[in-house]
Amino acid sequence: MSSPTSSPTGTLHALHNQWPQATSVDDFRANLAAVHARIAAACQRVGRDPAGVRLLPVSKTKPEATLRLAYAAGCHMLGENKPQEAHGKWEAMRDLTDLRWSVIGHLQTNKAKLVAQFASEFQALDSLRVAEALDRRLQAEGRALDVFVQVNTSDEDSKYGLAPDDVAAFLRELPAFSALRVKGLMTLAMFSAEADRVRTCFVQLRELRDRLRNDAPAGIVLDELSMGMSGDFEIAIEEGATVVRVGQAIFGARATPDHHYWPATAPVQA
Ligand SMILES: *Cc1c(COP(=O)(O)O)cnc(C)c1O
Repeated sequence: MSSPTSSPTGTLHALHNQWPQATSVDDFRANLAAVHARIAAACQRVGRDPAGVRLLPVSKTKPEATLRLAYAAGCHMLGENKPQEAHGKWEAMRDLTDLRWSVIGHLQTNKAKLVAQFASEFQALDSLRVAEALDRRLQAEGRALDVFVQVNTSDEDSKYGLAPDDVAAFLRELPAFSALRVKGLMTLAMFSAEADRVRTCFVQLRELRDRLRNDAPAGIVLDELSMGMSGDFEIAIEEGATVVRVGQAIFGARATPDHHYWPATAPVQA
């Protein structure tokens, strides 16, 4: 086991520092098996098929050599938060021809060119300017990209993403960008040790998806819900997640604090 056990619906944010570093292929195999077992248990609690939940291992801050161990243990798609870091790792690991990359963090338009070059998936679409920049760069590359629209369900200024009320109008603009294949919605829950407050964020994303699905524009499919991280993925699965983004429970704790990724986020205290 890579992580301490918790109550099925408890969160582990307070325990971030207790995830040991994975330093061998066997470590990764064991951690992946443990996470898959927890996914299966969460699915069982709510009568879901585990095949309906994709595990996206998140490798941010970890060095190339470590990513290669994860790859050898079966991770053939990796999530990275920062476009530049992701691009550098892609360049360094192009010999692994079936390794694919999901960019899961905020994108500025001046980095769209980087992402268009190599990413298979982008999970943090939250502005038309970025959609336009990505589409233009993708058309030039002759590529397409799976995208998730990021929604701010925690009502915290520190989190990126569209306000829930703005998502319907945003989706109506997206068919104009033919290189973007819209797959669903993504969110980060509130960082809280109170499981109920975390759950509320996930419920909100699912209900929003369900409402929008009925009259989504042609070509816009809202099948996917990307929600849940190391500390809260079981709650997310109980509430309908189809993609969970898990870093530390697979790779080990990160030295970089989360507020590096979510500016102005208060230290995790709940
Ligand atoms: C880092 C990150 C994750 C994974 O967080 P862990 O605590 O390592 O599981 C998930 N989503 C996003 C957007 C991230 O940047």
